[in-house]
Amino acid sequence: MASAAEFQHTLAKAASLSGTSLHTGARVSLKIQPAAANSGIKFKRKDLQDEPTIDATIANVKTVERATTIGEGSMRVHTVEHVLAALSGLGVDNAMIEMDANEPPIGDGSALMYVEAIRKAGVVPLEAPRLLFHPREPISIETKSGSLLVLLPDDEFRISCTQAGPEGRFTQFMSTTITPAIFEREIAPARTFVYYEDVQALMEKNLIKGGSLENAIVVRGESVLSKEPLRFPDEFVRHKILDIIGDLALVGRRIRGHVVAIKPGHSANAELARALAREHTRRSAMSAPRAIPIGDSGLDTGEVMKILPHRYPFLMVDRVIGFEGDNKITAIKSITINEPFFQGHFPGHPVMPGVMQIEAMAQVASILLFKLTKTSSRVGYFMSADEVKFRKPVFPGDTIFIHAELTRARGNRMAKTKCYCVVNDAVVSEGELMFTFLDK
Ligand SMILES: [Zn+2]
Repeated sequence: MASAAEFQHTLAKAASLSGTSLHTGARVSLKIQPAAANSGIKFKRKDLQDEPTIDATIANVKTVERATTIGEGSMRVHTVEHVLAALSGLGVDNAMIEMDANEPPIGDGSALMYVEAIRKAGVVPLEAPRLLFHPREPISIETKSGSLLVLLPDDEFRISCTQAGPEGRFTQFMSTTITPAIFEREIAPARTFVYYEDVQALMEKNLIKGGSLENAIVVRGESVLSKEPLRFPDEFVRHKILDIIGDLALVGRRIRGHVVAIKPGHSANAELARALAREHTRRSAMSAPRAIPIGDSGLDTGEVMKILPHRYPFLMVDRVIGFEGDNKITAIKSITINEPFFQGHFPGHPVMPGVMQIEAMAQVASILLFKLTKTSSRVGYFMSADEVKFRKPVFPGDTIFIHAELTRARGNRMAKTKCYCVVNDAVVSEGELMFTFLDK
């Protein structure tokens, strides 16, 4: 299981580098900035108006052809996997990657330039426990093109990978635990490779304007064309492992498990990442009722009403299923057609208004803060909501699991909570809610 001493990490200071992007051939400057605990990895497009940011998460993956592209609206960030692999491989949980183009530099086709820049900046711990994902049972995906990926329970992050080229050429196998030292020495230097027969098609699609033998190995028949000799006899499978690490970083939690990958690729890697994120959401929605330590049990409606001043129709919590330590709470609310907010909200098409979901999150988070300040003379008041996203509609008959987690408490004055509403194992809405503490 997770050791208590495992903390989140970020960079000690900014790491800068520049180079050429693979697909467009444009010059790009990239700066990796330190970031706060629980903020995860984000990209910022400095070249666009208002400098939009985007979370490096599987929910934002747009395409997986040759490389992994994330996007939101019309904004795109292409080929995220090598910089993400370097951050994940070196144990960085939180960072802001700023760029003045739509793609990080390709470097020599490996993750070396990122590793060197991150090492130079330094990696430091933050005062927050790491977010981990432990599979409880095997989780597998299989694609039509013959990729098979399985995640098995294990105490460490391990990858066992079989790479196979066309007609079985360059079939290679490697199995290794991934630690920062092993990643840096055995995986990060492995360069990207491309089959000669594919190069023509990629050029026609204008996908590799910046491509050259400086930043990729070209495989033609049985021979290998590259600027410098192979760095490892099995460099290809090592690069496949590098890509798996980068793509699985999109799960947003560090994996403690053994990935067995046969003929992996970005599409298959993303599919596994999606399956893990789904399993995590499902589990956080379902795991609350069991394994709650004594003294941390739930609250029924009467007890909820002793804490919250709200009454029907404004009470948005049926009951609290449980707490996890001092930082997490899960509550439920069943939505019926009799809820007054269905009157007049999209007549004939009853959908729960988003503002009521925020209200539900705020009430549940308030109960968590009440528990926290029970012995003090202060009480938490809801101030504002940030990063609010409505992902799916909520209909009459749905039961909402409302999760709130305390992500930051600044002294006795402010608290920040990350909240989710989950229906049928899917996140329907989420937001960061801020509270201020005032005297009772
Ligand atoms: Zn790659």
